[in-house]
Amino acid sequence: MELRNAPSENKQAATRQMLLGSFVGLDGVTRSKTVPSSRESTFVKSGMGASPTWSVFCPDSQIAFTPSISVVGDYRLHADPSMKRPLDDAIMWAPTIMTSQDGQISPFCPRSLLASLERKAYELGYATMFGCEFEFYLLDDEHKNSPDSTPIKAMQWDAYGTESFLQKEDFFAELQRRCAQAQIPLEQMHCEYDKCQMEISTAPSPATQAADLAVLTKLIIKSTARQFGMTASFSPKPFVDLSGNGGHIHFSMTRKSDATPIFSTGDGIYGLTPEGEHAIAGIHEHACELTAIYAGSPASQLRLSPDSWSGATACWGLENREASIRFCAATKGNPLGANVELKCADLAANPYYAIACILGSALDGITRELPLAKETSVNPMLLSAAEREECHAHALPTTYDEVTDAFQSSHFAVELLGQEVVNAELAIRELMSKTYSGAKPEDIARAMRFVW
Ligand code: GLU
Ligand code: MG
Repeated sequence: MELRNAPSENKQAATRQMLLGSFVGLDGVTRSKTVPSSRESTFVKSGMGASPTWSVFCPDSQIAFTPSISVVGDYRLHADPSMKRPLDDAIMWAPTIMTSQDGQISPFCPRSLLASLERKAYELGYATMFGCEFEFYLLDDEHKNSPDSTPIKAMQWDAYGTESFLQKEDFFAELQRRCAQAQIPLEQMHCEYDKCQMEISTAPSPATQAADLAVLTKLIIKSTARQFGMTASFSPKPFVDLSGNGGHIHFSMTRKSDATPIFSTGDGIYGLTPEGEHAIAGIHEHACELTAIYAGSPASQLRLSPDSWSGATACWGLENREASIRFCAATKGNPLGANVELKCADLAANPYYAIACILGSALDGITRELPLAKETSVNPMLLSAAEREECHAHALPTTYDEVTDAFQSSHFAVELLGQEVVNAELAIRELMSKTYSGAKPEDIARAMRFVW
């Protein structure tokens, strides 16, 4: 029997008259093409056009042309219908795959790169899960348009405060409704340390899906903020004198053969298995050279600093919030099991490339059986020179150009991401360096405040 008045899924979908397909470039900006829903099959099969410059767009929308990336040529963006989710009541969202006009996967397609790495991990015998944290500033017009943080600092706010949370209760309730509608399971929501700063985190998902959902989650947060007359900023450092926004990524890995989690169930420290130790060692070894991917925007450097819980030192430690790699052991208080949290990552990063770098580094560590360095069990700033040596604790590169140098000399980045992607990233970085070389931190923070 047909229930005439029951709002069926079809009826809801029928009211969503557009399909938006997203693509995230090396600048971490989510760009998109949108079609009327009636054109969905064309978006899936033939794709929508994107100039090759989509691979070298910069966060300020400049184009970093290279000898091989010019105004000539065309890529196709194909919506992936298997990941279609509602963004709001009018728009369906789907991630896209970038191909040539003939349907060959483009070397600049971050989603395809991550999917192939996920397959590689699977072939090597591992299933992987990633969960993401999203810190953001939720700003009204007065705060948004202010040149600096003065009006924000004048506010009453308690770090992690209940009153601050309850004042935003309607926003969080609507956010939760929309995330549930999009099948994004939320782990938790809270007001963060600094004034106007919020955080939500999402449950772990398989690698490619986790990156997809990271894109959609940010779009939903921004759109919900707009609905309440606010603006969300995911910039790593929207205001120079307030806390930065992290985009911490949690990672766990399970041996397929016997469903054993590699970060627990072993005989090593905190229950690590040998593979678990090697995987952490791999992420540790490659952290400095991959900072360009994890936290590489012109605003990222403003966030990465000691004593800000941003993990500015490449080292690892149990529940160490100053380490790039915070290890969360399997305890009663950790129902999702042991995992590794990459603290230095931010939300200006492309989530596909960031997750690919974590996974690729872990696989490299396992393949090469890299030994795990000694744990850093204190604030790394307190280590003596000898202890730093023992823990392999190195500050992540501290300027934009140092980040570039570390990336440029990384053979591993080429192996993992491909020469084309490395060249494109270097072209973007060269242009950004030239553009912002004399700029003051406040100017960079202001210019980039609403890019991501
Ligand atoms: N806001 C800090 C960051 O920039 C993180 C604070 C926390 O550990 O939650 O990463
Ligand atoms: Mg936080």
